[in-house]
Amino acid sequence: MRPFRYERADEIPAAVATLVREADAAYLAGGTNLVDLMRLEVTTPELLIDVRRLTSDRIEELPDGGLRIGAAVPNSDLAADLRVRRRYPVLSQALLSGASGQLRNLATTGGNLLQRTRCPYFQNVTTPCNKRVPGSGCSAVEGYQRDMAVLGASPACVATHPSDMAVALAALDAVVTVVGPAAERRIPLTGLHRLPEDTPERDTVLEHGELITAVELPPPHAAARSRYRKVRDRASYAFALVSVAAALEVTDGAVRDVAIALGGVAHKPWRATTAEAMLRGAPATRESFVDAAAAELAGARPLAGNAFKIPLARNTMVGTLLELLEEVR
Ligand SMILES: Cc1cc2nc3c(=O)[nH]c(=O)nc-3n(C[C@H](O)[C@H](O)[C@H](O)COP(=O)(O)OP(=O)(O)OC[C@H]3O[C@@H](n4cnc5c(N)ncnc54)[C@H](O)[C@@H]3O)c2cc1C
Ligand code: SF4
Repeated sequence: MRPFRYERADEIPAAVATLVREADAAYLAGGTNLVDLMRLEVTTPELLIDVRRLTSDRIEELPDGGLRIGAAVPNSDLAADLRVRRRYPVLSQALLSGASGQLRNLATTGGNLLQRTRCPYFQNVTTPCNKRVPGSGCSAVEGYQRDMAVLGASPACVATHPSDMAVALAALDAVVTVVGPAAERRIPLTGLHRLPEDTPERDTVLEHGELITAVELPPPHAAARSRYRKVRDRASYAFALVSVAAALEVTDGAVRDVAIALGGVAHKPWRATTAEAMLRGAPATRESFVDAAAAELAGARPLAGNAFKIPLARNTMVGTLLELLEEVR
């Protein structure tokens, strides 16, 4: 690991100003992803600014019935919070499906959102990777493809976003609050992460120096039920091949409202807007779920090594919605 400087910031404006001034500086939260990548020399910041005591580690009620989650809230605290478990079970389930107890104790809400892809070539500095070294090529196009994207990928990058939590937050219409050099801004979670296009080195729409301060959840619909399902190669300690976060509300046998997001299939949490539009007002039946899942995946473009993800994503969507249907009946 290369030598680096370490600072603990006391005030947000000073931390942001330092990061904006220093191109090779990075925020440090739990360090469970950043420090690993520094050890591998995938990233080599000269200065780390510790933000764990800078942003809130509390979960607070919002006046509208939603919740405000400070960026420093550990993943384990968020998963265990009674309000989250009762009102947003999909979020608690997604968090508990990720990493391990020890890692979740250290990992934070802000850091979880900005964890980098698990593409093996991104993590191996001896191989070409457009995300790590723009213009060097994409080793995955002719290489290991099992974990790669089937939706929204580009010839420049076929990597997937690894966070389970972010998939649940995408389905919940969460909003991320960010402080930058100019002002605070609010970014819908679904607009935080990018598709790779021809600039895969940029995972998100954040500018260098912008600090995530919190994630806000809108109030849940009283009649809706939510759930997270993750399919992976091992029962624990593995990233999603495919995951589904879904919330369903049914009235008189018809879908009153539905929210679905997919993980493991794209460079960002994939909000299934096509399926949602087909389902709203449709009969709440297996047939409707099958048709909607097929329509959502119709635009999928598999690589030679990951075509299995398309039926897997379709079936996981249908299975998750059927489980929710049992709950709301
Ligand atoms: C063995 C292992 C298994 C794992 N399995 C899973 C899994 O199954 N599912 C899953 O979702 N995750 C998994 N993870 C990833 C884990 O969830 C992340 O490492 C963790 O959430 C990152 O949070 P952190 O606070 O440690 O972030 P850090 O490592 O400190 O930071 C990550 C990134 O976020 C930036 N950052 C941190 N806080 C802020 C902020 N407030 N504002 C702006 N930028 C910020 C940092 O600069 C860095 O770029 C696994 C990790 C390991 C090591
Ligand atoms: S898929 Fe993306 S992250 Fe992986 S090697 Fe290609 S460019 Fe790099």
